[in-house]
Amino acid sequence: MSGTNAPDGTDGMPDETSPVDFSRASLAAQALGHIDPTTRGVVMPLHVATTFIRDPDNGYSSGYSYARPDNATVREAEAVLAMLEGAQAGAMLFGSGMAAATAVFGALEPGDHVVAGTVMYWALKRWLRAELPRRGVTVDFVGTDDLAALKAAIRPGATKLVWIETPGNPLWTVTDIAAAAEIVHAAGARLAVDSTAASPFHTRPLELGADIVMHSATKILNGHSDVVAGALATAKADAFWERIGGIRAGSGGILGPFEAYLLLRSLRTFHLRAAAQSAGAQRLAERFDGHPHIVQVLYPGLPGDPGHAVATRQMRDGFGFMLSLRVAGGEAAAIATAARVRLWKRATSLGGVESLIEHRASVEGPDSPCPPDLLRLSTGIESTDDLYRDLDAALTAAHAK
Ligand SMILES: *Cc1c(COP(=O)(O)O)cnc(C)c1O
Repeated sequence: MSGTNAPDGTDGMPDETSPVDFSRASLAAQALGHIDPTTRGVVMPLHVATTFIRDPDNGYSSGYSYARPDNATVREAEAVLAMLEGAQAGAMLFGSGMAAATAVFGALEPGDHVVAGTVMYWALKRWLRAELPRRGVTVDFVGTDDLAALKAAIRPGATKLVWIETPGNPLWTVTDIAAAAEIVHAAGARLAVDSTAASPFHTRPLELGADIVMHSATKILNGHSDVVAGALATAKADAFWERIGGIRAGSGGILGPFEAYLLLRSLRTFHLRAAAQSAGAQRLAERFDGHPHIVQVLYPGLPGDPGHAVATRQMRDGFGFMLSLRVAGGEAAAIATAARVRLWKRATSLGGVESLIEHRASVEGPDSPCPPDLLRLSTGIESTDDLYRDLDAALTAAHAK
């Protein structure tokens, strides 16, 4: 990697084979300590060129020829992501989370079978249902938190990919990644994990046995609600990974350089944001647990949550920034509550520094497992007291009529 520098800013070139002896938080804060080789700047330049000079001998000695397959700024952000995920064979950035996820499914062959979770990002589930059959790929959905059900859904020989999302949106159902990996690998299939809600702050799926980890980097990785991006990372660069790379290059799915630059900037503060946002979510979950207008709080950080035991094993430093509340009085009361907040922002998406609230069933439609009384909360970095007071007041007003 050109411009590689020791994280302390000295010129001591780290030995490629030496173990990383600085924490991920330190490495991310300095975007791996890379410096601009031209100016010695502590921020790497934004590379916008779409084409590159060919050498007189007809080669491309820089390694870059055209910007659709590859970009140097994108590579910088990919290196930080690979470090955060412990992805030995690297990471790839895409123009959205959906572009990243669909590239994985695009690498399957006609006749392949896929198992995916019942509780998963609704737009991807809709895409799988609509698009996989047209490619000759069949898909079954199963509650992946139930390992026996997962095992029963796998067809050894035919099942090539198992896709899990944990915690799963919007119920925050927890799937045991290590146990799932064992079951999936015993059947000769690959395990991919949508880890958007956990983020590498809490969970590193590749270290638990997953083959591919996927993120909507639009969410907490970027964290400022101003970039749409997706990421994949892998433990090994096998033929399947190469094929995904070919799909990205061929279909033009790579992230744009400006977006990669903003993402790289955001990753420098990722550890601070993730720590604050998950601590806030935990406090809110505890305060709303037992609230007179709340039927149930869905959050794996609560000891009574069905996913708590597994989450305690596979998530560290908290349980994430996402939680859902089931509102007493049903759908109308939930929508009326969302209508009355002032500090929470009524919007879709998640992971930004501003807290968002959404009546999720309105978005997901009739075949979703999302109950109609559910409000999905994405915790930002505002004062938890303010967030609690605002939502408590909205609940009280919605139930006063
Ligand atoms: C948002 C999201 C996606 C899709 O990502 P985009 O960047 O919006 O394309 C996939 N999975 C999860 C869990 C998400 O929250």
